[in-house]
Amino acid sequence: MATIFTKIIKGDIPSYKVAENENFYAFLDINPNAKGHTLVVPKKEVDKIFDLDENTYKELMLFARRVAMAIEKSVPCNRVGISVIGLEVPHVHVHLIPLNKMEEATFTSKVELSPEVFEATAQKISSNFR
Ligand code: 5GP
Repeated sequence: MATIFTKIIKGDIPSYKVAENENFYAFLDINPNAKGHTLVVPKKEVDKIFDLDENTYKELMLFARRVAMAIEKSVPCNRVGISVIGLEVPHVHVHLIPLNKMEEATFTSKVELSPEVFEATAQKISSNFR
């Protein structure tokens, strides 16, 4: 059965898209640690990141780096943190989180954003993606 992220990539479930190419898709996390919290996902359905073939792993990291640079230009933050967990969704994803305080890296405190703020944030990051 397709993972929830495959359904998002295919457009069967809506998402606030930030960037996409042939092999990767980046979109805002629906339950963010901070405004601009983004997930970067390979279109290939693999559960665990270290099971990816070497090339996909490298390309994922390079794509995530470009997304992180766009986030840093778009959201006021000290830096963009990176985290890989995967306990909830068994489809590789890299969390990119704009950080101002350690709490935002811990996944214990969440922020609530309106659809308008999600949309504006995704558009801004997307416009800074190179
Ligand atoms: P993890 O698997 O790394 O523990 O967490 C999965 C992440 O995916 C969580 O931060 C959660 O908020 C996010 N997530 C789960 N379902 C959806 C969804 O349908 N849409 C979006 N945008 N994010 C989701």
